[in-house]
Amino acid sequence: MSDIIRLLPDSVANQIAAGEVVQRPASVVKELMENAIDAGATVINLVVKDAGKSLIQVVDNGRGMSETDARMCFERHATSKIQKSDDLFHIVSKGFRGEALASIAAIAQVEMKTRSQGAQLGTAIQIEGSKIKCQEVVHCAEGTSFSVKNLFYNVPARRYFLKSDAIELRHIIDEFHRVGLTHPEIEFSFTHNGAEVFTLPSVALRQRIVHTLGNRYNEKLVPVDESTDIVNVSGFVGKPDAAKKTRGEQYFFVNHRFIRNSYLHHAVMSAFEQLLPTGHFPLYLIYLTIDPAQIDINIHPTKTEIKFQDERAVYAIIHAAVRRALGKFNISPSLDFEQETAIVIPIARTGQIITQPVVQINHNFNPFGDSPAPRERDTSLKGWFDQREKQSSGWQEMLEIGRRENTSHIETFAEKITNDDQLIAPFEWTDEAPVFQLHRKYLSLVTPKGLMLIDQQRAHQRILFETYMRQLDAGKGPSQQMLFPDTVTLSVADCVLIESGMDELKALGFDLVRSSDDTFEIVGMPADAAVKDGQKLLEEFIEQWKNERGDLQYSPREKMAWALAAASSIRHGQMLTIPEMNNLVQQLFQCAMPYNGRENKATIIQLSISQLEQQFR
Ligand code: ADP
Ligand code: MG
Repeated sequence: MSDIIRLLPDSVANQIAAGEVVQRPASVVKELMENAIDAGATVINLVVKDAGKSLIQVVDNGRGMSETDARMCFERHATSKIQKSDDLFHIVSKGFRGEALASIAAIAQVEMKTRSQGAQLGTAIQIEGSKIKCQEVVHCAEGTSFSVKNLFYNVPARRYFLKSDAIELRHIIDEFHRVGLTHPEIEFSFTHNGAEVFTLPSVALRQRIVHTLGNRYNEKLVPVDESTDIVNVSGFVGKPDAAKKTRGEQYFFVNHRFIRNSYLHHAVMSAFEQLLPTGHFPLYLIYLTIDPAQIDINIHPTKTEIKFQDERAVYAIIHAAVRRALGKFNISPSLDFEQETAIVIPIARTGQIITQPVVQINHNFNPFGDSPAPRERDTSLKGWFDQREKQSSGWQEMLEIGRRENTSHIETFAEKITNDDQLIAPFEWTDEAPVFQLHRKYLSLVTPKGLMLIDQQRAHQRILFETYMRQLDAGKGPSQQMLFPDTVTLSVADCVLIESGMDELKALGFDLVRSSDDTFEIVGMPADAAVKDGQKLLEEFIEQWKNERGDLQYSPREKMAWALAAASSIRHGQMLTIPEMNNLVQQLFQCAMPYNGRENKATIIQLSISQLEQQFR
């Protein structure tokens, strides 16, 4: 048999390696920015077009490269940062594997200009698909400029799998944040499609955090500072009321490198124990300084995973440091959180006599008759509920608006279903049918075949979702103009997110005007929102929207509609009046899909007579 094993050509080997180093445009941003930092740059400018799909340019004022190095840097395993295996245990630079530029040049068209400090002339190189196209002597500024064009131009499958510009841009911003938050002493700028997204001057860490994440963070930061023999811990944690339901504002840095580590994340989470409602994540930016010999960074090509020699000690120190920081700043567990899912149990006040409601049976009541005769309301039941009505807000009005809009609905669910045993719906819902609210959470009503329980929050979200989808389809929807516009300050990343969905937001009823880099004025807001505070609604919407973003189940529009529905719906714990309950039920049954809420969770549970009989047996 003849020999069949061959060494792969460099260009193929590089392309394979690129698969690990370069997953998306954001990976290129990370590698180029880290190289600029390793080159000692004090100013780094990032220019991106089309979320990095057509251009990523990084310009630095670092030490530059000689003519030979300019060529060498694109070779695989070519690095100036380590020389021998022992150096692996004392790494102080970001790079050391010498594979980033080789990988990038294998799957993109790269142009580089570089001039070393003090040299008269610089070198320009063009390389694509690992092949050098030209090298010449040029006049250029001191430092280095890399332009990476048409990423994955020769790997169509990879290019095809890139996400939408909004998502890829989001990843780029994340990487930019991480690098920026690691080096507040370096000046950064970031331009996307000609518009300046960030300008970060050289400042102290706290200011850099505020510049990066948003002004409103300033008062939410609690300093952490602990020095031990094993590791030094510094940085900030957010006050518990700054915690959010989405992850994304949790940062660990080890020796000036952003890392992920779920074990250490747990150390912070447990320090926040009992200070946060379930499902909330605290903001934190924790900087660890540790002897490089105590860690191993060489686990993964992207170097965001690190092994600690004594991970348990590091865990304990972080936990204690955060705990102490929170204690020092008197953050007690009594902070007030919105209780979305808390079960509210009504408490009888002492001295108050609870009268049993007198139930009068209305013999005319027949929710499943063909044409129910008009009848009088059961007054004693009404009296019992009236008390609650006083405490409830103006839901009636809001539901009315929704109802008016809903009447022009295509084909209702009630029209669609026939005699299906599984689907029992009151076809002719009347205001007279008794509805009860259980635990301010569920509505219960009688149906032809038993008892129906409706989750008020999920049901209302379904109703709003369908309303919002209609508005998105039509490209417009009712907006309530504000007499005094609210101003919201957002992180720059959230501003970019908002800008990317401006047309849709308009259709949903948000009338937003950008008043500065990180603020929007809310001139109008969705007319039917339960939350009347524009700022609160917008912030909650953004949180929910980000929550939805990675989900494949829904289209981008559906994600927006669900996010707004979730932000603006009736909540658990909210008391509803009888008319409000009736409206809610009626509207739910005018929906195309009343049985399913967000993420396909049930809105309705039915208890049939036979199931009840079973229980009684
Ligand atoms: P690594 O960073 O792991 O060494 P890279 O492929 O990223 O590998 O870069 C290869 C080499 O090119 C670096 O070691 C460095 O000497 C040089 N280099 C890369 N980018 C720059 C830059 N912006 N300025 C100066 N030198 C650079
Ligand atoms: Mg590098």
